[in-house]
Amino acid sequence: MIEHVQPLTVLAEDETIFRDSVRAFAEAQVRPLVREMDEHAKIPRALVDQLFDLGVMGIEIPETHGGAGGRFFHAVLAVEELSRVDPSIGVLVDVQNTLVINAVLRFGHEDIRRRWLPTLASGTVGAYALSEAGSGSDAFALTTRATEDGDAYVLTGRKLWITNGNEANLFIVFATVNPEAGYRGITAFLVERGVPGFSVGKKEDKLGIRASSTCELIFEECRVPKAQVLGEVGKGYKTAIETLNEGRIGIGAQMIGLARGALEHAIRYTKERKQFGKAIADFQGVQFQIARAAMEIEAAKLTVYNAARLRDAGRPFLTEAAICKIFSSEVAERVSSLAVNLLGGNGFVKEYPVEKLFRDAKIGQIYEGTSNLQLQTIAKQILG
Ligand SMILES: Cc1cc2nc3c(=O)[nH]c(=O)nc-3n(C[C@H](O)[C@H](O)[C@H](O)COP(=O)(O)OP(=O)(O)OC[C@H]3O[C@@H](n4cnc5c(N)ncnc54)[C@H](O)[C@@H]3O)c2cc1C
Repeated sequence: MIEHVQPLTVLAEDETIFRDSVRAFAEAQVRPLVREMDEHAKIPRALVDQLFDLGVMGIEIPETHGGAGGRFFHAVLAVEELSRVDPSIGVLVDVQNTLVINAVLRFGHEDIRRRWLPTLASGTVGAYALSEAGSGSDAFALTTRATEDGDAYVLTGRKLWITNGNEANLFIVFATVNPEAGYRGITAFLVERGVPGFSVGKKEDKLGIRASSTCELIFEECRVPKAQVLGEVGKGYKTAIETLNEGRIGIGAQMIGLARGALEHAIRYTKERKQFGKAIADFQGVQFQIARAAMEIEAAKLTVYNAARLRDAGRPFLTEAAICKIFSSEVAERVSSLAVNLLGGNGFVKEYPVEKLFRDAKIGQIYEGTSNLQLQTIAKQILG
């Protein structure tokens, strides 16, 4: 008997409807704000509220908890479509869904799920705080300390580079309850904005995804009730590894969306711009560059969709996720660079959208595990 297997890029009806609604939203609501958000390095709260209304801030949260009851693949579609217009909005939605909600759904006990999932679905932005000044790639060398004290843990330390730091009201914070135990001391805590001893520090002034806030978090004897431990004490490393393995598929989606956006701008421009008496898109040299970019995007998209569909099918996807992130981020860099070239002088100025996408592309090779760390994962899996 021949099993019926769907092509990877063929969307189910619900996926098509969802993708189309996000695409229409991105065009109507995000596109007009892109340049201003980049210049002011800020996402207006009204736009964040609209993202909640659209249903993309609680994609995998079950309907019983106020969410959209979708799959991981829906999150990938949302991040891709938003990033096609603005990768800063893409990453806001990505962190909310693939890291924060994912961690709460998978590792939160019933009380935590009941308390936080409806909140996250309806207006609370989340952030995911693992990195510190001294621990980036070597994430489990973190030094933020959680000391047991009665019915609470007291957190002291600093986190760096935390996406959504400006917008978030709920932070998943990784700290160690026992530095001597190495990674086995790492524990995840849910910390609310405004609790005594917790403040959001400086915001980074960045090359790209400038509208997305990246902030320092400061903990000075911040009491966090034991009920706010996410998962088991000493098992935070597992929470981090498992959510980041999935999160990087979201970054792959951000990067293919970005690359598509850049290529669309380039195609439109090259059909209009005339040199030597004809549209520059009529030159075979330009056509071949565009064809190559389309080829790379298609290949990258297949890696992202495959990793996401493997995840939803409950199959192993570690190598595929690492491959999709590194490959998509390299494609995004190459395609956005080509788009700058094809717009000529106009590619280099802020009046046109491609210089921003070129700047934005760079982050794909850095966060949620640098490209070298992805290569390490792939090598480990294939070399044993
Ligand atoms: C805009 C932005 C948003 C971010 N958002 C978040 C967030 O929301 N939450 C969070 O926790 N973190 C976040 N980060 C942090 C990000 O995950 C780290 O920057 C990243 O993991 C790299 O760590 P690092 O900057 O310390 O670089 P390092 O770890 O110091 O790496 C520097 C270089 O050394 C290479 N390198 C390091 N170790 C090895 C090795 N063993 N083998 C080969 N090469 C190696 C790296 O590949 C890299 O090229 C964000 C960062 C940025 C810039």
